[in-house]
Amino acid sequence: MQEILHAILAGAPGDEIAALPVPDSYRAAYVRRDDVDMFEGLASEEKDPRKSLHVGEVATPELAPDEAYIAVMASAINFNTVWTSIFEPLPTFGFLDRLGRESVWGARHALDHHVVGSDAAAVVLQVGSAVRTWKAGDKVTVHCNYVDDQSPSAHDDSMLADNQRIWGFETNFGGLADLAVVKANQLMPKPTHLSWEEAAVNALCNSTSYRMLVSHNGAPVTQGDRVLVWGASGGLGAYAVQYVLNGGGIPVGVVSSPAKADLLHDLGVEAVIDRKEANYRFWKDEFHQDESEWRRLGKDIRALVGDDVDIVFEHPGRQTMGASVFVTKRAGTIVTCAATSGYMIEYDNRHLWMKLKTIKGSHFANYREAWDANQLVCEGKILPPLSAVHTLAHVGEAAYQVHRNLHEGKIGVLCLAPEEGLGIDDRELRERIGEERITLFRRHGA
Ligand code: NAP
Repeated sequence: MQEILHAILAGAPGDEIAALPVPDSYRAAYVRRDDVDMFEGLASEEKDPRKSLHVGEVATPELAPDEAYIAVMASAINFNTVWTSIFEPLPTFGFLDRLGRESVWGARHALDHHVVGSDAAAVVLQVGSAVRTWKAGDKVTVHCNYVDDQSPSAHDDSMLADNQRIWGFETNFGGLADLAVVKANQLMPKPTHLSWEEAAVNALCNSTSYRMLVSHNGAPVTQGDRVLVWGASGGLGAYAVQYVLNGGGIPVGVVSSPAKADLLHDLGVEAVIDRKEANYRFWKDEFHQDESEWRRLGKDIRALVGDDVDIVFEHPGRQTMGASVFVTKRAGTIVTCAATSGYMIEYDNRHLWMKLKTIKGSHFANYREAWDANQLVCEGKILPPLSAVHTLAHVGEAAYQVHRNLHEGKIGVLCLAPEEGLGIDDRELRERIGEERITLFRRHGA
């Protein structure tokens, strides 16, 4: 990969990059099938990604006609890499085996190691024979909706396709590596004003939040809407609050420390709740919730923004869903894409039906949504919440930070990029958008 890296750093043209040989093996972060029982008997928080995530050489797979080899300059930690590395809620090898049974090309994925990672900023090295829209040398970011166009179910909204998967989670050959294999319909232009690591952290969380709060497939914010955002300085939340602000809504950001509250204020969010300080006890014990605590949250929201919320941006799940359903305004929407604290959810259904509320499920984004969300990053209308950068060799530590909620925004991972700050092509645009704004989370996390 060194020859490839030198060519990229030297700004070699596409035809020169296309002529470089793709190596037979490459450095990657992966989990092993043999390890899936290693944390048996431990509580979730005791399961340590530093023990299960390995970094080493893996064989380069053959390229399918609709795919591209990409040289990954930087990637990011997403929570799905945490799930894979602690083998919860189930080991991801089952996904790979299912994909393996689908086709000859799918069979490449069913291996005894799983190369993880669902984000990348990269340079295209080679494209398969059926690819018409991308070529060697293109600088790209990668979204993780892994789907082909062969099922009718993929042709309205590809997130509804019966063979839809998340790249690097439900497929092999993910982005936490020096090289990756992606479908051509995962590629998007790299924002020219961002470094590799700033560009790498956005696609997964940005596109997910876009679908949830901008797309007609989610709960689109309209001007004046009040929106409660859980984990508002986390991966998803950092984009969610930007979308609410951009759309003329009023975000109410929930965080768990004064430092995170300061960060949100700097991002332009006026109404912030520190849930640790408020010390909400939505659950009295393992089986019973406390409606008076839901009421207290509702009162705190009204004190900040003068009314109940039209939309709740949900992802913590079991710990918060009862409260989320309760505090949503009549006819409002709870849009949810996850359940970090537990997926067996309990809420009081009377508050849902009597007040005609809706719970809307959402999952990642289709290509159109991911593309439009990426375009907003390209134009500087959405800022990258990059707060820390690790090298690929220390990917376990990076995943550990996210698992233990020790981070803000997004953690970037340098793969081929030898240092931070490389890859910025349009300094004038960067200046216009503002160095201070672009690096807000990084300066905060430093
Ligand atoms: P993240 O960076 O860890 O941020 C999540 C935030 O949630 C944390 O910063 C934390 O903020 C807050 N939080 C955690 N536990 C909480 C609890 N019990 N009560 C209230 N708040 C809590 O993770 P993320 O990238 O935003 O992802 C969040 C979840 O969404 C994960 O489960 C992930 O797998 C899922 N996800 C799903 C999709 C999809 O397409 N379906 C896409 C992306 C992510 P404070 O401590 O500051 O409150």
